[in-house]
Amino acid sequence: MSTEMMKPVPRAGILDIAAYVPGKDHADGVARVYKLSSNETPLGASPKAIEAFREAAGNLELYPDGQAHALREAIASINGLNAANILCGNGSDELLGLLCHVYLGAGDEAIITEHGFLVYKIQIMGAGATPVTVPEKDYTVDVDAILAAVTPKTKLVFIANPGNPTGTYVPVADIRRLQAGLPKNVILVLDAAYAEYVRRNDYEAGIELVSSNSNVVMCRTFSKVYGLAALRIGWMYGPLEVVDAMNRVRGPFNLNAPAIAAGAAAMRDQAFIGTAVEYNKLWLDKLTHAFETIGLKVTPSVTNFILIHFPDVDGKRAPDADAFLTSRGYILRMVKGYGLPNALRMTVGPEEANRGVIETLGEFMAKTA
Ligand SMILES: *Cc1c(COP(=O)(O)O)cnc(C)c1O
Repeated sequence: MSTEMMKPVPRAGILDIAAYVPGKDHADGVARVYKLSSNETPLGASPKAIEAFREAAGNLELYPDGQAHALREAIASINGLNAANILCGNGSDELLGLLCHVYLGAGDEAIITEHGFLVYKIQIMGAGATPVTVPEKDYTVDVDAILAAVTPKTKLVFIANPGNPTGTYVPVADIRRLQAGLPKNVILVLDAAYAEYVRRNDYEAGIELVSSNSNVVMCRTFSKVYGLAALRIGWMYGPLEVVDAMNRVRGPFNLNAPAIAAGAAAMRDQAFIGTAVEYNKLWLDKLTHAFETIGLKVTPSVTNFILIHFPDVDGKRAPDADAFLTSRGYILRMVKGYGLPNALRMTVGPEEANRGVIETLGEFMAKTA
């Protein structure tokens, strides 16, 4: 081949990846829209975080602290952890990617679950490894199915607990059983992006499991209840060896200075988080009840979103409901890409949006053809 005919070619497998499609944020021809498609909080960020962000604007010429000390110390002190075991990322998405980058290569396998978060698969394939998808049971991660899928090639297991887009959770006793059944060279990744919302005695985000094992990490985010999705802040709590390995390959300044400042202030304002969790619980119950009342099936959720299942009837399926809601300015999330073609995921929104969706879905279910 002549050199003129040559062109850059991505590594094997890269072009097999389906890029992540974020939740929609507009509806053609509709002036006022409510974005209920990305699990963002309707309550915004803590005023203290906003103030810290504004203050950071005075020093934009300076590189940020590459160790994000102020943020790691705030996380450590509020959660009773050792800051040395905390690694921050540009969103937890970056941490999920670093885990794959560091622990996976060609020929390796990583286990994900049927309705698992799509970012896992993208990052596993991006590292040149093979995603192995196992079934869920009643829209819930099935620990036994995961254990049955482990092979000598398995290096990582990803579970979102609670799950997205299902909203369900796995009790801590089952997570312990999963950890106990995994070979010691396999890392169990507990993605607890919605942990703050869970009000169940048998749920734990994973702190205790990380502390007592060398092969468990927990990922958390400031994008949901903390209301800082725009700033991209995630954190991981893990064994020192894992944190050390990931620190070697991450960008040296992966968190920006306004994010470090605002994140630390948000973490220290737990009263604000308490209010947001209360608000969510109230509406989660109201929405669930209202949807069931109009004849829709809802998967019981412990998060800030609800998975709504539609009838398998012409004109009443999820895409029909999505079009109807969108025409009124209510943007929910289609979850076909998660293996749920006849469901929509709704984020708990501001009161007027929640009431609007209840009313609109009531109309949708009542209308004939
Ligand atoms: C929203 C979400 C995250 C958070 O991602 P960020 O990169 O921190 O914004 C992680 N995992 C799951 C399952 C999520 O739904």
